[in-house]
Amino acid sequence: MQTFDFDLFVIGGGSGGVRAARMAGQRGARVGLAEVADMGGTCVNVGCIPKKLYSYAAHFADSFEESHGFGWEGAAPTFNWETLKTNRAKEIKRLNGIYVNLLDGAGVKIIKGWATLVDAHTVKVGDKHYSAKNILISTGGTALVPAVEGHEHVVTSDNMFDLDPFPKRLLVVGAGYIACEFASIFNGLGSHVTQIHRGDKVLTGFDEDVRSFIAAEMTKTGVSFKFKTEVASITKKPDGLHIKTKDGENLTVDAVLYATGRIANASGLGLGAVGVEITAAGAIKVNEQYQTSVPSIYSVGDVTSRVQLTPVALGEAMVVVDQLFGPAEGKAQRSMSYEFIPTAVFTHPNIGTVGYSESQARDRFDKISVYRADFKALKHTLSGSTERTLMKLLVDDATDRVVGLHMVGPDAGEVVQGFAVAMKAGATKAIFDSTIGIHPTMAEEFVTMREPVKSP
Ligand SMILES: Cc1cc2nc3c(=O)[nH]c(=O)nc-3n(C[C@H](O)[C@H](O)[C@H](O)COP(=O)(O)OP(=O)(O)OC[C@H]3O[C@@H](n4cnc5c(N)ncnc54)[C@H](O)[C@@H]3O)c2cc1C
Repeated sequence: MQTFDFDLFVIGGGSGGVRAARMAGQRGARVGLAEVADMGGTCVNVGCIPKKLYSYAAHFADSFEESHGFGWEGAAPTFNWETLKTNRAKEIKRLNGIYVNLLDGAGVKIIKGWATLVDAHTVKVGDKHYSAKNILISTGGTALVPAVEGHEHVVTSDNMFDLDPFPKRLLVVGAGYIACEFASIFNGLGSHVTQIHRGDKVLTGFDEDVRSFIAAEMTKTGVSFKFKTEVASITKKPDGLHIKTKDGENLTVDAVLYATGRIANASGLGLGAVGVEITAAGAIKVNEQYQTSVPSIYSVGDVTSRVQLTPVALGEAMVVVDQLFGPAEGKAQRSMSYEFIPTAVFTHPNIGTVGYSESQARDRFDKISVYRADFKALKHTLSGSTERTLMKLLVDDATDRVVGLHMVGPDAGEVVQGFAVAMKAGATKAIFDSTIGIHPTMAEEFVTMREPVKSP
């Protein structure tokens, strides 16, 4: 029988890779993990976590302003960008350490460096070869910057957390969730933000009401949108970056963020030589078991370009571990469903969503009913803010099941997470109606919407 150095070798210590390595180690497997950068991957180092910390920082600006209506007096404190950067870096370093400790604790051997495949059972890191019965590729993705004139002057989301100096004027290119979040965050921190997008609305794929509503709310907070145009060129001059747009406008800013898409980190891994197939878009092809075209090699997370979210990478990793090493004691083998994945966008205000958008629901079901509420939250009766909240429910008339739930408003992600459980369980509108609200909250609106605004 062939013997291997490891039962599982994981390439990439991000969300998916760390989870798979740790769980496999806990089941007694011999696991190696190669990581070329800081442990934790995109989410911990340049994604979810630092972004959410900066979003908290940006929300304080509103809180100071809104406190006056509640009797708080005095000038708002000033913002120190260096303090935020230092404190964030310290926290991320702490998290990097926790990840290393978790892996150590599970007996995983960490190998620092860039890994490439040698054959179906061998990985090379530096000048060392490691053999493994199975290999898991979880190398994530990278921001893509198009070849616009002057692209060497732009930054991607990776660079936003340590910009020096703080950009007083920021241009955000793109309209996906990362673009919108950074526009809101830097606007809240005090930048003058312009967001440019070649389409006519932000957040393609989201519910149309949500898309219009958030653009209107972000505009109220100070983000200036330019739709149906593109950047033609970027020129660096002493007073900043000079932007020409395709419709002939000129604009001078201190930084340009391109958030126009991400590609899978599938190059430089030796995939072709070993026979691991990739899709036309450059992502690793996997079957329902996350197995690549080489049966001993698996792949999860952003490098497979399915749903690019941390909890999805974690879920996929756990399915692979259960398949290879059996489920945890007393538990059933896990499976992964891509239906009703809840998600949040940390714009100001936040978006929380789960299930179908109205147009998807109309395509999918014969008849649907739409329930919608658009109101000023109780807090803003005194705060002076003009912010409004949107809540929307979509119901499949044939089954009465709630198939879409959308919110634009404070802490929408926190609110929607709980409703996502109910929706996974198949909750009907009748169950929503029979649920007692928590008063006074915004969330109670989801269980008190009596009359549809639109039926079939
Ligand atoms: C700005 C931003 C904000 C985000 N916000 C959210 C959010 O709020 N919520 C959410 O759910 N998701 C969010 N995401 C997405 C989330 O970060 C990813 O879906 C998640 O990190 C994917 O995990 P992964 O394991 O596939 O890859 P990653 O976490 O990207 O990990 C891949 C790792 O592999 C390493 N690597 C690559 N190639 C090699 C190699 N050849 N050898 C060794 N190591 C290698 C990389 O250094 C990296 O550490 C955000 C992403 C970005 C960019």
